[in-house]
Amino acid sequence: MEGAKHGMGGRMRIAESVTFGGSGLDRAAGLRKDAAALERLLAEGWVLPVWRGKPLCDGGVALGWVRADSPVLAGAGPAVFLGLDDGVARFAADISDWSPEAGEAGVEGGFFDASEQRHPALESRFSFLELRGIMTLLTPREAELAAAAKAVLHWHRSHAFCAACGAATVMEAGGWQRACPACGAQHFPRTDPVVIMLITRGNRVLVGRNANWPEGMYSLLAGFVEPGETLEAAVRREVFEEAGVRVGAVRYLASQPWPFPASLMFGCAGEALDEDIRLDPEELEDAVWVTREEMVAAMAGRHPRIRPARRGAIAHFLIANWLADRLH
Ligand SMILES: [Zn+2]
Repeated sequence: MEGAKHGMGGRMRIAESVTFGGSGLDRAAGLRKDAAALERLLAEGWVLPVWRGKPLCDGGVALGWVRADSPVLAGAGPAVFLGLDDGVARFAADISDWSPEAGEAGVEGGFFDASEQRHPALESRFSFLELRGIMTLLTPREAELAAAAKAVLHWHRSHAFCAACGAATVMEAGGWQRACPACGAQHFPRTDPVVIMLITRGNRVLVGRNANWPEGMYSLLAGFVEPGETLEAAVRREVFEEAGVRVGAVRYLASQPWPFPASLMFGCAGEALDEDIRLDPEELEDAVWVTREEMVAAMAGRHPRIRPARRGAIAHFLIANWLADRLH
C-alpha cells in the first residue's frame, strides 16, 4: 500500500505520499517575470513536450525531457517555466499541433487512452503516453512536474481568448498568466476543487459507480465544490444528492492535484447518519455499503463483484489507509 514506505512522520507524511502529492519542487515564482533569466534557463534547462494532454515518456517509466532546440519542439507553443529541480530548470511546451502518422484516435476522450505516439525525431524508447497509465511509476518530483505541466498547458489551450472582451490573449509570466492586450485583463490558471469522500457507517464504507466506468469498478463518491460552499457542505450535499444518505461530522484528510484536466481533489472522511440508499440515477448507476472484509477482498482482486478504484487515484489511497487504520 502507498503509505507503507512512509513509516516516519505520522499522518501529514502519509497524506503527502498520495500520487501527485507533491515533492517540494522549487517553482521559483520570483523568476517568472524575469524574461532574461527565463531565456538563459531555457537554453541550459530541459523541456517536457506535451502532445494533446499526453507527456513525452522515456521507456514508459519516466518523463521524456528534451533540449529547447530539439526538432520535437518545432511548432511548439511558448515554454512554461515549471521551476528549478535541484537547480536544473524545467519547462513544458505544448506540441499539440504536431500530427503523428498513426494513433491520433481516442486522445483526451473516453476513460483511458492506451495508445502511444512516437515522434520521428526521437529514439523509439520515447513515446507520448496517457499520464494515468504511468502516474504511479514516476518519482514524486516527476509526478509533480507532469501534473503541473499537463494542467497549465491545458489551461493555455482552452483559454486563448479573453473571458472579459473576447480578444486573443497572450502568455505571460513564464506561463502562469495570460494578458489581454485589448482590455488589459489578467487571467490566471484555474484549478477546480472537487470533494471525494470516505463515508463510513461503523464497519462499512459507501461506494458507488458511474455507468461509464469499467465493469465492476466501484469508488468513493465525489463532486465539484460549488461557489460559496465549504468542503464540508459540499461533502454533505453531494452524498445526499447522489445516494440520499445524510452525513454528520466531516473532516479533511488529504489533497491530490488531479490534472484530468484541472481538478484539485480534497479527500474527506464523513460519518453517515443513516444508511438507506436512494440513488440519483442521473449521477450513479449503483451505490452500496461494503464491509472492511469485502473491501480487503476487492482491493486484492478477490471480490466476486466489486473492482476497486484505480491505483494512483486518491480514492484508492483513502480506502487503503482506511483499511490499514491509518486515518485517525
Ligand atoms: Zn480582454
